[in-house]
Amino acid sequence: MLILGIETACDDSAAAVVADGREVRSNVVLSQDRLHERWGGIVPEAAARRQVEVLNRVIAQALDEAGVEASELGAVAVNNQHGLLRSIIVGVSAAKAFAYTLGVPLVGVHHIEAHIFANFLEDPELPTPHVCLTVAGGHSLLVKVPEPGRYELLGKTRDDSAGEVLDKVARHLGLGFPGGRRIQELGESGDRTAYPFPRPMSEGDGLDLSFSGLKEAARRQIEELRRRGEEPRLEDFCASFQWAVVETLVKKTLAAARRHGVPLVTLAGGVASNRPLREELARRAGAEGIEVRHPRPKLCIDNGAMIAGLAFHQLRDRGPSPLDLGAVPSAPIQGQPY
Ligand code: ZN
Repeated sequence: MLILGIETACDDSAAAVVADGREVRSNVVLSQDRLHERWGGIVPEAAARRQVEVLNRVIAQALDEAGVEASELGAVAVNNQHGLLRSIIVGVSAAKAFAYTLGVPLVGVHHIEAHIFANFLEDPELPTPHVCLTVAGGHSLLVKVPEPGRYELLGKTRDDSAGEVLDKVARHLGLGFPGGRRIQELGESGDRTAYPFPRPMSEGDGLDLSFSGLKEAARRQIEELRRRGEEPRLEDFCASFQWAVVETLVKKTLAAARRHGVPLVTLAGGVASNRPLREELARRAGAEGIEVRHPRPKLCIDNGAMIAGLAFHQLRDRGPSPLDLGAVPSAPIQGQPY
């Protein structure tokens, strides 16, 4: 079955066609980075307005690249759970219009469950159980996946997400948007021990995360330097700050795997493409005999393929969503085995 997946959780507009929940026929993502660069961060109204303008074009391109006519689609899937409300409404409205007009089922999918599923899209034979660190601008969670489609929340951030603090600190440094990528690029050649940063919540047994203290520590250091008439050495500051985020994520992820006796760790979400995170997690996990897997970057960022892929299983096991499907900015991940 061919499923069109639509994804508009945040600022990007994405659509994809996936066959039988495993074969990605197309995966189109139109970024708004240049639009939001001028404001140094995402402006929700502007994001949704742009999505209204471009989403139909993105869907047309996804069908075109897949070599598929709309009439060949077996279902239309959309993220209707998690993200900016206006942006989700744009995607949900488009999905309803397509599903209704084509006379095919509509499937509402949870954005974070779809991120976790991207690992199965990358490798349908991916073993379970595994612990998935799903980390992006809008979420930072540790989830145990005992079997495909079943999720046990082990820990989550109590305040900011990892992606959010990378973006915000980049803004304090005047690096523009998207900040996380700029911090990674600049940090490549920096000394990660040059500036001291705390490792939030790294002591103790809990698996929850917290990044707001780290963000504050960065802001205070930048202000203190500027008060003295100095500017932070960008490469070193970015390397040091990013390293504090990476070490915190790695430590908690491995603690989760150890505690639950799970020999495999997966990554999901936009920050999962962060190279130091991938490398450090692989290095430290390898030393403990724990394997690490992650999808390719195009399946880590917000994308329609993860939506269409998960929707195939959801439709088969739970049936379609109603045409009055709502848009929910935040919903717990529940899942259902498939
Ligand atoms: Zn996301």
